[in-house]
Amino acid sequence: MRHHSARPADGADALFGLDALGSGAPPHEDGTPGHDDSCERGAQDRPLFRDSPAARRLLPVRIVYAEPAAAASARGREILARFPDAEVVEVPSHWGIPGLHGNEGNVDRWVRVKGETLVLGERKTLTTRPNGRSADWIAPGASNGCAMACAYCYVPRRKGYANPVTVFTNIDAIIAHLARHIARQGRKPEPNQCDESAWVYDIGENGDCSVDALISDNTADLVRFFRQSRSAKASFATKFVNPDLLALDPRGRTRIRFSLMPPEDSRLLDIRTSPVDDRIAAAADFLDAGYEVHFNLSPVVLRPGWQEAWTEVLRQLDDVLPDRVKRQAACEVIMLTHNRELHEVNLGWHPRAEEVLWQPALQQGKRSENGALNVRYTNRVKAEAVQALRTLVAAHTPWLRIRYAF
Ligand code: SF4
Repeated sequence: MRHHSARPADGADALFGLDALGSGAPPHEDGTPGHDDSCERGAQDRPLFRDSPAARRLLPVRIVYAEPAAAASARGREILARFPDAEVVEVPSHWGIPGLHGNEGNVDRWVRVKGETLVLGERKTLTTRPNGRSADWIAPGASNGCAMACAYCYVPRRKGYANPVTVFTNIDAIIAHLARHIARQGRKPEPNQCDESAWVYDIGENGDCSVDALISDNTADLVRFFRQSRSAKASFATKFVNPDLLALDPRGRTRIRFSLMPPEDSRLLDIRTSPVDDRIAAAADFLDAGYEVHFNLSPVVLRPGWQEAWTEVLRQLDDVLPDRVKRQAACEVIMLTHNRELHEVNLGWHPRAEEVLWQPALQQGKRSENGALNVRYTNRVKAEAVQALRTLVAAHTPWLRIRYAF
């Protein structure tokens, strides 16, 4: 593939305009989310965005690699029925599919593979890991991989860089595991940076749950599961505004974290995602539909003019967001982590991204446990940048609590 300069200027590769958003349930008079038991039923009568031409353009699935048990499962059959024209290729494992995972031969068609290919598998390992920063726990994800193609994304590193979405069809087992884990924790003993009172489970570590909802009901099932919990809530970061999520009636037990960065950086780096303006504009709709709405200021990429660009983002948040969003908002600040192998892959398809991502004079390497060389801003550069961003937040969005910054 030639150089990708982010989405086309006509927006043809953007997902949809804001007019595609429904308004969700009306809020109560005090501004708190409004919803009752009929909310989801009524909303389900509306046509789903995932069946729209815009969604089909993002995911024109032509080939599905499927483990036999995954294809035969109820969730697998639902997914295959949604893409009746796709060729189905049986594979023994969702790992290591020749020509799909790994890097060779895929750089030139990486972005196309992400939209045209799906993988169905079963998650064999059901493990919830402690986190303590963004969430208390990292849940076993219901997917791995992403249809979007952010140039800095760490998700493909284990499977290879074409890494399209793998949907795990054994969602019942994932939810049963979570139910046991939550039950074992009991009540949260004291507030922490993750949440005042709920155990927070990140359900989207290795993908984007909003995009997953274009493919299957896995995200919906997780939102419905967590809305019944008194002691836990789900959390996921997203760069994609999927209006179908507005119908899920999460009752405050799912935190959606819209990732933000200056729009000019996003146009260069966040390939195939919803425009930043749309993510900000969607916040009130998601709050009114029953979500807790937070923001990820991430990744923060240092380049000439970065502080001015972030100032504009923060001013826009302050101008656009209604008070009811501001009252409950919080954010995470995450400085860019890059990777030498990803840098080399990106040089093959998106070298302009590397002009801002790869800054050896500002960065230091750190060998990870699996031998990969991760690259971060040096301790001094990072500390100064985090402090600068904290100062900007205090000046322009003093209502925006920073849950953590690193
Ligand atoms: S949306 Fe998230 S998971 Fe998807 S490519 Fe971008 S950073 Fe990776």
